[in-house]
Amino acid sequence: MYIGGALFCSKILEQKLILLRATEEMLDIDIVGGGLGGLATAIAFRRQGHFVEVFEASSATAFNELGAAIGCPPNAVRILKSLGITVESIKGVEYAGITSLDHQSGTVGLSASLGDIKGQYGHVWCLCHRVDLHEVLQRMAFGEEGEGPPAKLFLGTRAVSWDPKTNELALSNGETRKPDLLIAADGINSALRSAIVGQDIVASPTGVASYRWLLDSAKLDNNPQLDWVIRKGPSGPRMVTSPDFRVLFLYPCRGKTIINAMGIHMDDRIQTQVGFYVPSTQAKLLEKFKDFGPQYQQFLELTDEEVGLWQLRSMPDLSTWINGRSCLLGDSAHAMLPTIGQGAAMAFEDAITLAHLIPLDTPCEDIPRRLSAYEFLRKERADFVKGESLDQFIVPQKRALYYRSPELQKRVMGFDAAATAREYKRANFE
Ligand SMILES: Cc1cc2nc3c(=O)[nH]c(=O)nc-3n(C[C@H](O)[C@H](O)[C@H](O)COP(=O)(O)OP(=O)(O)OC[C@H]3O[C@@H](n4cnc5c(N)ncnc54)[C@H](O)[C@@H]3O)c2cc1C
Repeated sequence: MYIGGALFCSKILEQKLILLRATEEMLDIDIVGGGLGGLATAIAFRRQGHFVEVFEASSATAFNELGAAIGCPPNAVRILKSLGITVESIKGVEYAGITSLDHQSGTVGLSASLGDIKGQYGHVWCLCHRVDLHEVLQRMAFGEEGEGPPAKLFLGTRAVSWDPKTNELALSNGETRKPDLLIAADGINSALRSAIVGQDIVASPTGVASYRWLLDSAKLDNNPQLDWVIRKGPSGPRMVTSPDFRVLFLYPCRGKTIINAMGIHMDDRIQTQVGFYVPSTQAKLLEKFKDFGPQYQQFLELTDEEVGLWQLRSMPDLSTWINGRSCLLGDSAHAMLPTIGQGAAMAFEDAITLAHLIPLDTPCEDIPRRLSAYEFLRKERADFVKGESLDQFIVPQKRALYYRSPELQKRVMGFDAAATAREYKRANFE
């Protein structure tokens, strides 16, 4: 039992005892990691009526959700809506199509309207700022407005180890806990993955890196040379590609007030010898894209002096995601390249699947069987999407295939994770 050391703790034990007395069917669920996946999982389990606690290493309220945006495709929006989160609340900008531009002439190579996305999938594809999404997820997980007993958040609390045999979770403040279910949503560098999988695994370098930065859209005003960024063409990303596959990829978010940009390229550093993220400079960004046309140079000159440089890594397929009463979820299980914008969407699908398979009356001893169902329903699909995200960047013949293949789009974005889990539960557990 956890006592002391983190936010709200003196109240927690009291509330927990009251809640446990009130409904004995509640499971005691610990989630390690309060990123997009961990928070979606907290909301989904809260709505099932369970007692949920989230342990987050970062001590800042925005956690690590700084400085970038994210695309929420229809399969993600469907889940967010079912968790009470609307596109309006996250200030989403509609992704109606992608415009591909030549890196020198600016000629439009492909201005692919993706058709009637809402008509096809029942939900829009939207683009939002990660901080906006994270804030709303926090409110719905920990605030009074969400359905079910509010989850509890412990900031500045790092998980140190997990023993799947004894079900003991050790935290950085020296406390040990014994939850009914442990969910490791602690991201690409997961501390608990090796205990769950039974071997040490790190996300593999892909040789791809990306500069990432945000720009105030007001800086585009009164400059017709920069109309290509948001004014011309369908609402959605612009992809400027050179023959050697350096890519400027940018799109608006936060009600079009901010532009999110990436400068993707093959990394000339040895990726195992440098950090995942390092600060870099506008000068280096300009140098990398110096042969791009003048309209792109103008855009790059608007960045701040400092820009971030990220390695893009991809997890190998793991032998398993589960062990006893514990499982991996989100990037800890399947971190992938952002090529088709599905990393967080896959974490949301994991979250909703898991919560549907483990409703309020699930006996503790039945958890391993439910986790096997979770792995069965999720692993093959997430590994497939992860594989496509990698191939469609590094295999020349497959580059941007996603945007040309309605079949692939349908397979990825037309999937309803909640309905699939509900159906499986009905057939196997009721
Ligand atoms: C450049 C880029 C662009 C992307 N674009 C898209 C996109 O358009 N669409 C999309 O769907 N996905 C996209 N993704 C992927 C998406 O960001 C991730 O898949 C998603 O954020 C994964 O969420 P997560 O909760 O699993 O992990 P994270 O968001 O990494 O969260 C993990 C959390 O765990 C915490 N933590 C770590 N270790 C511990 C510990 N030991 N104890 C306690 N807490 C810990 C961390 O502080 C963090 O808050 C992109 C990724 C990148 C790199």
